[in-house]
Amino acid sequence: MKQYDYIVVGTGFFGAVFAQQAAEAGRSVLVLEKRRHIGGNCYTKDYEGTNINVHVYGTHIFHTNNEEIWAYITRFTSFNRYQHRVLTTHENRVYPMPICLGTINQFYGLNLRPGEVEAFIAAKREKIQDPQNLEEKAISLVGRELYEAFIKGYTMKQWGTDPRRLPASIITRLPVRSSWNDAYFDDKYQGIPVEGYTPILERMLKDVPVEYGVDFLADRDHWRSRAGTVVYTGPIDEYFGFAHGRLQWRSVRLETELLSEEDFQGTSVMNYADSGVPFTRIHELKHLHLEKKHTAGKTVIMREFSLIDNNHPYYPVNGEDDRVLLAKYTELAARESGVVFGGRLAEYKYYDMHQAIGSGLQKARKSLLGAK
Ligand code: UDP
Repeated sequence: MKQYDYIVVGTGFFGAVFAQQAAEAGRSVLVLEKRRHIGGNCYTKDYEGTNINVHVYGTHIFHTNNEEIWAYITRFTSFNRYQHRVLTTHENRVYPMPICLGTINQFYGLNLRPGEVEAFIAAKREKIQDPQNLEEKAISLVGRELYEAFIKGYTMKQWGTDPRRLPASIITRLPVRSSWNDAYFDDKYQGIPVEGYTPILERMLKDVPVEYGVDFLADRDHWRSRAGTVVYTGPIDEYFGFAHGRLQWRSVRLETELLSEEDFQGTSVMNYADSGVPFTRIHELKHLHLEKKHTAGKTVIMREFSLIDNNHPYYPVNGEDDRVLLAKYTELAARESGVVFGGRLAEYKYYDMHQAIGSGLQKARKSLLGAK
């Protein structure tokens, strides 16, 4: 039985980066992947007969301010010049998202100038000392009317729970702007990899053997006996056999449809703010690649439905009970020698891709320095 310095479990960004770094440092590495394909939820593939690259698990926009992460990722791909803009439909009208001058003016039927926004919104805000949850935070930022129109319904659909039970941090992902700037991200670097995400992951792992369809946990003693260090990127509670109970995850179901029309919605992501609409958003993938020639008269859309499904984790819910549980699992993880835990699922953190990559680089560096 061949022995490895590292056995990496999972081929999302964290796992792939860690494996790539270890292999580049001359360590022997084996990667195990439960699914039949690489890349975790970043997996992309072309939809047959359309030349449209589909983000199979939902639209992924790469963005970062971090020079090191940008220098690293661009070793494996070039990016197009896509800049993410999101629109949201509320009561059959379309508004820019995140909330900016365009949203505010259109919603209130006004023509405020940037300098007038602060006073206008200040009058709408409710005084909440030290907001404790998503609803309080949102109301303290934009007031109740904008919250109820654009945030409440969407958040309840996405998280399946009352926004008062969610952490304030979720909403601080979204900026509120007094200008017409309707860009979704402020980061210095942004784009979509020109060939999609799958080739990035393949290039990262080009010198590393990958075994597909392997459930590490089903045979963990065997794999652990063959590895100096195991790098585990699956859900942390599952690793410990749910000993303290289950962490909550939100999942996503995507209904993909090929349409015989040129352009369904004219933009890559349209949110649906109202609770009466069952899906949270519609993705139209061709709009991510304005540089590409797609097959004429065809488009691929995905309607996104949010649901609880702990077996297909996407988003850590991170409610109060979860935070208590996570502290217990983190303590167990700290005592588990020879195992590195990392990525969105193992750290139970709402990481963006660049953050998963950053964490992978950091933890690989630490482990590689410590190992010799
Ligand atoms: N959100 C909202 N309305 C929107 C878009 C987002 O209320 O139209 C809130 C919602 O609570 C969501 C959070 O902002 O969970 C973060 O949204 P983001 O777009 O960052 O989520 P992701 O793209 O990662 O699913």
